[in-house]
Amino acid sequence: MLNLTDSEIERAYEELKEIHKNNLEDLGVKLPRLRRGNNFTKYALVLIYLYKKFNQKVSKTELTKFIKKFYPDTNDVQQARHLGAQKGWYILSGTRGDLEAKKLGINSGEYQLISLETHYPNFTQMRRETNVSEDDWEQLKEDYNFRCATCGSKEGEPNFHYPSSITKLQKGHMNPDKSPTIGNIIPQCEKCNRPDRNYFEYDKKGRVIRIADPKFILKSNEKIQKKMYEFLKLEYDNK
Ligand SMILES: [Zn+2]
Repeated sequence: MLNLTDSEIERAYEELKEIHKNNLEDLGVKLPRLRRGNNFTKYALVLIYLYKKFNQKVSKTELTKFIKKFYPDTNDVQQARHLGAQKGWYILSGTRGDLEAKKLGINSGEYQLISLETHYPNFTQMRRETNVSEDDWEQLKEDYNFRCATCGSKEGEPNFHYPSSITKLQKGHMNPDKSPTIGNIIPQCEKCNRPDRNYFEYDKKGRVIRIADPKFILKSNEKIQKKMYEFLKLEYDNK
């Protein structure tokens, strides 16, 4: 484990601040604050630790040990994961089932800060900001007769597939790689608008038209995965 003095931590934070300003701020990556009151924040400490071990694997155990010096009651450090998925830092985690992490040999329970030039590949913070006005949303729902594009359940009425719950329409993302604006959203009930739907791209009728995230292949059985591998191998070897 690295032992960092207070002044080393402060210096590293100044460097990160500069890097953030030059490369990452415009991409929506969030820089955690260094202190709350007199104490360093856990977020800043974790980020600084990974920065000091840039491009090296760091285990959760090691991070926890480091954080314990400042916060003795800490048992489980989650900040590294959140710094990636929620704050946008390019930190790969071996527990996420990331193909890229797998390629780099990052195992379960390990993290690695990969780059300070760009954001985490699946960073969705910016994509979540939607510019759809209330009027446009009401109009869109009307176009769909206030029904879920996928299953047809009507707003305010019992859900077709889950009759004990009342349908509430949400803004379902059609292509998760593009902004959720008019033209890329459909009304979907909360049962059809599930987080795992990000694996797919939908058409205006709420039907799946494409895989949007290759990780979905890893959820298939081995036979399908092998077929996919052979199929892609053939496809790309001939190019
Ligand atoms: Zn539905």
